[in-house]
Amino acid sequence: MGKTIRNTKTRTDESKYKSKVRARVAWKRFRERLKKERKVCELTLKPLSRNFECHHKDLDIEHYEMLVDDHFCVLNNTAHETIHYLYRYVCDGDFSILDRLSEILHSMYEINHAEKTEKTEKTENSGQ
Ligand SMILES: [Zn+2]
Repeated sequence: MGKTIRNTKTRTDESKYKSKVRARVAWKRFRERLKKERKVCELTLKPLSRNFECHHKDLDIEHYEMLVDDHFCVLNNTAHETIHYLYRYVCDGDFSILDRLSEILHSMYEINHAEKTEKTEKTENSGQ
């Protein structure tokens, strides 16, 4: 198995370590296999972009080199950023952020589509 670099002290050390791991053939093969198998961004279900993220669900740096399928999620870039952004709130115990997100999105949809739906209905009715 690959060497584990221990005692990462700073963020810079940690990101250098992560880059080294991601430069390895084993990592690249793992990433490509997940892409072939999963095909789409696991949040948006859109096709994976060339620079998709192979996201570690296990955030423990000591486990960074453990290439276990179930501990990874393939995501396009914005989806990946969104997951990390929202996870900060979940980590702080704010699980209802997901309910609020859903409420906001549904409300936006209603505001922006209600009028269009009415118009479509009127057009359909006038045609009969
Ligand atoms: Zn990630």
